[in-house]
Amino acid sequence: MEDTLKILVVDDDEVDRVAVRCALTKAGIQMELSEVADGNNAFSILTTTAYDCVFLGSRLLDQDGLTLIQQLRSSEIKVPLVVLTGQEDKQTAVQLLKAGATDYLSKSRISPENLAQVLRSAIRVYRAEIQVALAKEQLRESHEQLIRKNQELERQQQQLQMQNFKLSEASVLKSHFLATMSHELRTPMNAIIGFSQILLRPKFGQLTHQQADMVERILNNGKHLLMLVNEVLDFSKLEAGRLDLKGERFDISKVINLTVSEMRSLADAKNLSLLVQNDLQNSLVFNDPVRIKQILINLLSNAIKFTEFGEVWVEVKELPANRLAIIVRDTGIGIASRDFKRIFEAFRQVDQTLTRKYPGTGLGLAIIDSLVRMMGGKIFLESKLGVGSTFKIELPRQITLSAVEGDVPLQVDGERVFGSTKNQHHSSSQARQASVGYPRFKL
Ligand code: ADP
Repeated sequence: MEDTLKILVVDDDEVDRVAVRCALTKAGIQMELSEVADGNNAFSILTTTAYDCVFLGSRLLDQDGLTLIQQLRSSEIKVPLVVLTGQEDKQTAVQLLKAGATDYLSKSRISPENLAQVLRSAIRVYRAEIQVALAKEQLRESHEQLIRKNQELERQQQQLQMQNFKLSEASVLKSHFLATMSHELRTPMNAIIGFSQILLRPKFGQLTHQQADMVERILNNGKHLLMLVNEVLDFSKLEAGRLDLKGERFDISKVINLTVSEMRSLADAKNLSLLVQNDLQNSLVFNDPVRIKQILINLLSNAIKFTEFGEVWVEVKELPANRLAIIVRDTGIGIASRDFKRIFEAFRQVDQTLTRKYPGTGLGLAIIDSLVRMMGGKIFLESKLGVGSTFKIELPRQITLSAVEGDVPLQVDGERVFGSTKNQHHSSSQARQASVGYPRFKL
């Protein structure tokens, strides 16, 4: 209250007004004091001028103090109001406080000290009330903002859900399209491959050297195309969760040796050594041999494709906890660690340009990743640019199949596992062998 205070005294009794003025002056209050005798005048002054405090007699010439207080409060005029009441007017004082007065003082107690104290506390209370009102207002505003933001978020969430729904619909359609197209393409491809093979048989008739060369090219390109189609088909089946593993008990060393011998011509063509180190004590596993072969073909194709000089190794070894590892290592171009994650995503290649040196669909590692997961295994990659890459697949010796129709419990090394009967999966294995048994890049 150090500044000059603007004070208004409203009282019809001039003696009382003088008493207030004298007491405030004596109390040493620095002030600009105005006086009015009636409520109407007081109201019009207060609507245009801001005061720090109003001393208000409870009875005025034209109305009582209560009416003026109500009038002021309903007009949103904010000012501390101290009511000066008659001697025995406590009840009126309570009424006035309820209506919005800040404090009251009996006229009989007007003294410099009392008046100064009431003035100070009224201004303090009033300022505190203003602060509270301000804080409440800010709180209300931020609450409203939160509600608005919440509504906005809900709207965005709904939009996202809608987009998500549309995307998954489109994805289902795309998978369906890929599956249908690749399935349909397989029939003519198989005819092209089959008839080319027949044409190359000597008993069919002698072809000129040039004709035989052309038929061989048709055959190789047909096989390559079929491999691409099969990759797309496998991928769309995996995406739709429609690819099942066909578990059986088999000798994994045999599958590995056979696959490596099928891939050897590719390595030879690039003057690469293809070495196998097999440290398995026990080669019997329960898994899907066709898919194991597919994994190995993909890894070996990549190793040979991305290696210009040096060697490609295949290593098979036992791991603790009845697991085993298949490791394919090369001395090829290597992969930067920033690409490690990316290359396991579908259609992702380190070189995505159309003029890239190495052909491929970018589906091989994505398929391997899904298959290894289905088998309960893990893939580890170590690689250094310009030095080479190592892909390590860890697999349980015995995979767990989700029990599907036709599966029957099978006894393997004294343990109960699920699997198809031998004849059933043998025939399907043969059919599938044709679909996954070609190297991924030879033309
Ligand atoms: P694709 O071989 O058909 O391109 P993959 O999914 O098999 O598709 O591989 C994805 C990418 O990972 C390859 O394009 C290549 O960039 C990288 N890659 C995979 N294997 C190797 C490897 N042994 N050496 C170097 N890069 C590799």
